[in-house]
Amino acid sequence: MAIIIKSDREIALMRQAGRIVALTLEALTRAIRPGITTAELDVIAEREIRSRKGIPSFKGYRGFPASICVSVNDEVVHGIPGSRVLKEGDIVSLDVGAIFEGFQGDAALTVPVGKVSPKARALLEATDGALNAGIAAARPKARLGDVSAAIQQYVESRGFSVVREYVGHGIGREMHEEPQVPNFGEPGRGPLLRKGMTLALEPMVNVGDWRTRINRNQWTVHTLDGSLSAHFEHTIAIAEGKAEILTKP
Ligand code: MG
Repeated sequence: MAIIIKSDREIALMRQAGRIVALTLEALTRAIRPGITTAELDVIAEREIRSRKGIPSFKGYRGFPASICVSVNDEVVHGIPGSRVLKEGDIVSLDVGAIFEGFQGDAALTVPVGKVSPKARALLEATDGALNAGIAAARPKARLGDVSAAIQQYVESRGFSVVREYVGHGIGREMHEEPQVPNFGEPGRGPLLRKGMTLALEPMVNVGDWRTRINRNQWTVHTLDGSLSAHFEHTIAIAEGKAEILTKP
């Protein structure tokens, strides 16, 4: 499978899908407080997406039972919303995907519930910063490895580790297109970036060891050592100069 270059018209539709995702993440961030369940967040997200004529892309994807992924504390990604009640000090990763007129948007962020530990706060800042470092490196004529290396270097210089088993991806009509976008790698390696490529960059960062395990529910990914994990993601389009973030309000 090859990397699909998008036209300006296709990117305009992805911008609309991305806006739905971003507005949904804003609504979820406003709703997060001690006492809310992760299932209630899922209800809010589905309502937000559908009210803007979007389709929640995760729902039913390989049998996933909800509209969003909600991953708490040592959960890395793919957490299933349910009866879990959020409490002060938790960190909550929210991953949202929406389809608008056949095109996908995909973004995530990790939100503190009330006051969190200094370590948790540093983890969130490092993961968000790593995403921004990756976006800054994603320019025409750079190579994909430059993006991966920028993310890895940002994370590891702050004493945290990047998850290896799950990676970012090309995105467009499909949620997962070529290329895979690892959060670790060598500068100067991999495909050349070109205007019109659309990518989901998504560092997943652990306080401790980078290794993970899958829960008995076959979906939720946990850190192997039980340490905290954070996840930030944007869908971007490679453009002349700086990449455009498509998942913004
Ligand atoms: Mg993604």
